Amino acid sequence: MAAKNKTKYIFVTGGVVSSLGKGIAAASIGLLLKSRGYSVQFQKLDPYLNVDPGTMNPFQHGEVYITADGTETDLDLGHYERFTGIETNRNSNYTAGKIYMKVISEERKGASLGDTIQVVPHITNEIKRSILSVGSDDVDFAIIEIGGTVGDIESLPFLEAIRQFSLEQGPSRSIFIHLTLVPFIAAAGELKTKPTQHSVAKLREIGIQPHILVCRTEQELDADLRGKLSLFCSIPKDAVIQCADAKSIYAVPSALAGEGVDRLVLRHFNLDITKRRMTRWEEMLRHIDEADVEVSIAVVGKYIELQDAYKSIYESLSHAAIHHGIKLKIIRVSSEDHQVVKGLGRRVAGVLVPGGFGSRGVEGKILAAKLAREKDIPYFGICMGMQVAAIEYARNVCGLKGANSLELDEETPHPVINLMESQKNVTQKGGTMRLGNYPCHLKDGSRVKALYNRRDILERHRHRFEFNNEYREAFEEKGMDLTGTCPDNDLVEVVELKDHSWYIGCQFHPEFKSSPIAPHPLFSGFLEAAKAYTLKRKNV
Ligand code: GLN
Repeated sequence: MAAKNKTKYIFVTGGVVSSLGKGIAAASIGLLLKSRGYSVQFQKLDPYLNVDPGTMNPFQHGEVYITADGTETDLDLGHYERFTGIETNRNSNYTAGKIYMKVISEERKGASLGDTIQVVPHITNEIKRSILSVGSDDVDFAIIEIGGTVGDIESLPFLEAIRQFSLEQGPSRSIFIHLTLVPFIAAAGELKTKPTQHSVAKLREIGIQPHILVCRTEQELDADLRGKLSLFCSIPKDAVIQCADAKSIYAVPSALAGEGVDRLVLRHFNLDITKRRMTRWEEMLRHIDEADVEVSIAVVGKYIELQDAYKSIYESLSHAAIHHGIKLKIIRVSSEDHQVVKGLGRRVAGVLVPGGFGSRGVEGKILAAKLAREKDIPYFGICMGMQVAAIEYARNVCGLKGANSLELDEETPHPVINLMESQKNVTQKGGTMRLGNYPCHLKDGSRVKALYNRRDILERHRHRFEFNNEYREAFEEKGMDLTGTCPDNDLVEVVELKDHSWYIGCQFHPEFKSSPIAPHPLFSGFLEAAKAYTLKRKNV
């Protein structure tokens, strides 16, 4: 299974504990290499058995990230895209479930020709095939992040596969980067290297010798500690590097650049150490420190306790905040807590209702849309957030009593949101929604068109329900403009209120297309309006 192209593979593993920020480290390395003129693509290998994270509860797995080609993927792909601006695709995320499904369905078709199907070689071969699928003549580097922590039972087939991969493709085609934690033990007043030593020993037991060690640490790693890690882990001293806690995740690339990670990678592959150009990124970092106006935004949703459930939304808000010199204060509000929602008028300068599924907490989201509309607070509804805005408007302005979405109430007399025609006979749950990029046509004279500054846009989707076209007139008569539609099937994509400081709902997910150096126009417009609202309130 030799690669027929020039792609070099960078494998990123993690040790000691989870949540070290492997995705951010991988994304940062990608940005640094891209800034030196190399082309990069990414892949995340997830050891769990779900075929994709689409059917998983955000409480367990965090946000489901949607790629342009409509794949439901791991949220780390969001980091890759936000840091580098590179679009990932259906080859960018494989789970153990997806790999096993492929192997087992081949076996059912009789393709195994009587063989016993085993983890080695059948599963590992399929993993290697997936890894090779990211390579092409247009890709200099494929950065492959292995989910989980070294030592987990589940990640073993993946580690075995990358060991074989390096053996088969030859050492000049791959490099192993291991991210670990060097904890500070307050009682001893010291940084401890032992967990890292064990984690590297574990990797070597499987036959993988890391080339670069990236140490997450709260304190500086001094020369002695680097020497010790180098000796025990058998890694050259200059390849033992630190990744200290940063003021923003977007400062991580510069921190890693300071430690020379990209030079180490290029040197390993004998490639030119070209000049790094990342002026826009550095300029953006300077803006972070210049923020002067504090603006509070309420995010009203069902999975508020978990930092990762609305990851791309929070990040997109922060991109727009950097751009407008705003010190962003996000107030996370559970939509089940109606009392808190009712009191938001005094506390926030913007209300955002993100996407969601099912009826739990939905009346609180409807309440949030009502409050924002009545108090003229900027409102941004995304997917379910647009649908609740329509339900609220139908009930309280259009006089359609009991209006609802068919998802939430099958008996509603006014299904202002109904099931999409294309979804009516769908029985399988995973991967069957309207997913990924679809075009949208924006109406002349609308706020949304002014924000995008263009008429035709392409945005990512993930939904089964849609605005019911039978109610178009009822809404427009009462002042809710339908300002974005999908040209293919006349689906309503954007609603807005003209007589309002800023009130927009969109059926698509703009949060998947924002980056710190190019904030999304809708997030940018929303925060600009929220800043104006804050300043106005201060002056009265
Ligand atoms: N549950 C709604 C639908 O399927 C909204 C989906 C979402 O917010 N992503 O249409």
